[in-house]
Amino acid sequence: MLELESIFSPGGVLSRHIAGFHVRSQQVEMARAITSTIENHRILVAEAGTGTGKTLAYLVPALLAGGKVIISTGTKTLQDQLFKRDIPAARAALKLPVSVALLKGRANYVCHYHLERSLQDTQLTFVNREEIRYLQWIERYAGYSKDGDKSGLSEVPEHAAIWQFVTSTRDNCLGSDCPSYKRCFVMEARKQAMSADIVVVNHHLFFADVMLRDEGLSELLPACNTVIFDEAHQLPETASLFFGESVSTGQLLDLARDAKIEALKAARDFTPLQDAITATDKAARDLRLAVAEENTRIALSEAFRYPGFKPALDQLLEQLDALVGALESQAERSEGLEHCWHRADNHLQLIRRWHDDGEMDGYVRWIEVFHHALQLHATPLSIAGIFQKQLAASLRAWIFTSATLSVKKDFSHYNHEMGLDGAQTASWDSPFDYGAQALLYVPQGLPEPQQKDYTDRVVAAALPVLRASKGRAFFLCTSLRAMQRVYELLQVADDFDFPLLLQGQGSRSYLLDSFRTIGNAILIGSQSFWEGVDVRGEALSLVIIDKLPFAPPDDPVLSARIEKMTNEGRNAFMDYQLPRAVISLKQGAGRLIRDETDHGVLMICDPRLITKAYGKQIWQSLPPMKRTRDLTEVENFFAAGRQPLIQPRLNQHQE
Ligand code: SF4
Repeated sequence: MLELESIFSPGGVLSRHIAGFHVRSQQVEMARAITSTIENHRILVAEAGTGTGKTLAYLVPALLAGGKVIISTGTKTLQDQLFKRDIPAARAALKLPVSVALLKGRANYVCHYHLERSLQDTQLTFVNREEIRYLQWIERYAGYSKDGDKSGLSEVPEHAAIWQFVTSTRDNCLGSDCPSYKRCFVMEARKQAMSADIVVVNHHLFFADVMLRDEGLSELLPACNTVIFDEAHQLPETASLFFGESVSTGQLLDLARDAKIEALKAARDFTPLQDAITATDKAARDLRLAVAEENTRIALSEAFRYPGFKPALDQLLEQLDALVGALESQAERSEGLEHCWHRADNHLQLIRRWHDDGEMDGYVRWIEVFHHALQLHATPLSIAGIFQKQLAASLRAWIFTSATLSVKKDFSHYNHEMGLDGAQTASWDSPFDYGAQALLYVPQGLPEPQQKDYTDRVVAAALPVLRASKGRAFFLCTSLRAMQRVYELLQVADDFDFPLLLQGQGSRSYLLDSFRTIGNAILIGSQSFWEGVDVRGEALSLVIIDKLPFAPPDDPVLSARIEKMTNEGRNAFMDYQLPRAVISLKQGAGRLIRDETDHGVLMICDPRLITKAYGKQIWQSLPPMKRTRDLTEVENFFAAGRQPLIQPRLNQHQE
């Protein structure tokens, strides 16, 4: 067996086989800790600063240890990167015969059953020619594709509406009753995952299917010796989502649509069923219309203040109850109808639980309203107990890693939230020389963030810095409203000609490609660009953050958790809100320095970083950059920049 030290050494197998590999003491130390965790079936919470090389630090021990390993990542992009690039590279370097499977959520695979149903039903469902053309391409693709992964058919855009008609959901999959079960792509992907040594999933899939065993993946977790979560800082959010319950009016409309198709096929003569379907469809639409706002989260008590909400919810329950009865009476006429009956009944039970007081102790009930849909949610106030039970279910190693898990190397917030009390923790600093590469600038004279003209003042303070950096900046905002205002103000700023890119003006990857190509652009973004973005080199030399990223206190889940902690005698601000903000800020700040040659300025505009006692905790949690409040020092920093700067281009709209 190869020794870790020799594998990671200069001239070792990794440096010989992996392009760009650098020897880092932090990386080999982390690999050692992970080896020990795997051998002893322990739990390790490991923070590894940017540039540590944490992917290889966990992959090498996992590959060497053998046994089944699940690696869960935060995004599908990272999942693909691991599966296509990192694991094959490490496996080839170590010369180990390890089998690897990539498992995505079922919405990523063409479903033969729903595809065929859509093909028979073009008149009913599809009106536009483009969708019919897409449908024909998908039909052809399903005939020759080995895995049915929709990413293999790039001619049909990823977000085309057609995909929802030709893929399955947990609700509408017929499982072993399906006539296409034997050639089903979802089932095949799962079979491969069962037999592979390493399975790469994402957090959503892990919680929805693997851990909660809602689907046919019940054998995957028990068979595995090691679970590794990368980007583990996202887990509390994801786990809350999946340990809770939710149902949306969109799901009810899908149910009505599917039930209508099944009824036309197998129960055309039974009109009460069609009436019940129409009434449920209408009741679901009326519930959405009962709340005028959109893109908002509202606590249950607030929701009941909307005069139309309670009557609409009662009406929905009544109609859904009638639909369940009608479907039950016809269920034996077809598998499709039987399946719709079970779906409708599940939704009915869930909405009843949500509606009735006392049924959901330990959960906060709230609604989320979108343009077309309204969702009823019940989210656990704490996920710790639920997660602990899962951890204790069998003996294996659990590894939680990310660049941002602690507050000044204190992991108690994360461990407490996840129920990982007693886990081993470790932290490795970034190998970058932050003192020389980066400057933290907090401008003077800005008002408290609650002040009305705060964003205008932030932009005024940012303009000289943006000029000094010659664009090349991310302007990260904590709200969409602030983001829009920053964009408007920069568009009309005097003597300011840098190209502006705004979140939402294109896909995230399109905006990032444009940002890299333009070279002196300013990208103004909100949540989407705070994490998972890697822009190396000169194009990104300045990151501006408008406010400390505290979650809005009126968020229904947050305020219920604060109330619970306060009732328990805990300090919710220090124990919960502050650590969350620190982790989020570290993510945003982490966009700046991506390798040894990067250098730049992090500008945090929020004066609370200086004026509040907790501010010290925050900046001390950031990498050890030089700090200043002096604009001249910032200008000198950029003037002394080592690389030649690119000439600014004209703003798009001014060209
Ligand atoms: S088993 Fe489910 S996913 Fe597979 S073809 Fe049938 S309905 Fe579709």
